[in-house]
Amino acid sequence: MPRESKQARAARARDVLATLKATFPDAHCELDHQNPYQLLVATILSAQCTDVRVNLVTPAVFARYPSPEALAAASLAEVEELIRSTGFFRNKAKSLVGMARGLVADHGGEVPHTMAELRPLPGVGRKTANVVLGNAFGINEGVTVDTHVKRIAALLKLTRETDPEKVERDLMALIPREDWTLVSHLLIWHGRRTCIARRPRCSECVLAGLCPSASA
Ligand code: SF4
Repeated sequence: MPRESKQARAARARDVLATLKATFPDAHCELDHQNPYQLLVATILSAQCTDVRVNLVTPAVFARYPSPEALAAASLAEVEELIRSTGFFRNKAKSLVGMARGLVADHGGEVPHTMAELRPLPGVGRKTANVVLGNAFGINEGVTVDTHVKRIAALLKLTRETDPEKVERDLMALIPREDWTLVSHLLIWHGRRTCIARRPRCSECVLAGLCPSASA
């Protein structure tokens, strides 16, 4: 196979994006939330856990701690009990309470709108900040790279990187900024329905003609 030029890869990425947009016109964030605070909580809980499981847990969390102020004053043991089934619950409880304390102490109890302000909050990495900025505020600051996005970007040969922040940089260079939030939803939806880990359904995949990893 001849090496693909940058221009050819960019054109293929645009075709992938257009095809997935047409296939999943409703693609969206599947973490249930009603405001930026709730999305931040849900995203912290979603580490190493499915969105379905997080959505089972968050109604009780939001009812018990409806605001950053309430969560900032919570007992760790009580938070741990509520979120236990999401895994890594001790670390997540510490992150949630620490994050809420940070919101109250430094941001007037509001979720900030910038990467620079979000990143120092406990439990908030670049991925979580991208989710919140993109989905709560409509700010395309980066591409959220989760396990599906990383895996499918590699299968599509849109990146050779494995480090999520480097994968993100490659995708940001290939995808128009206005689609940075959407492209991650599209790849995640595709990864849950067709390009399933360990058993991708290449024979029924809308991207087969654009995918160097398509099996015959
Ligand atoms: S062709 Fe196969 S490997 Fe490529 S994106 Fe589709 S399902 Fe995944």
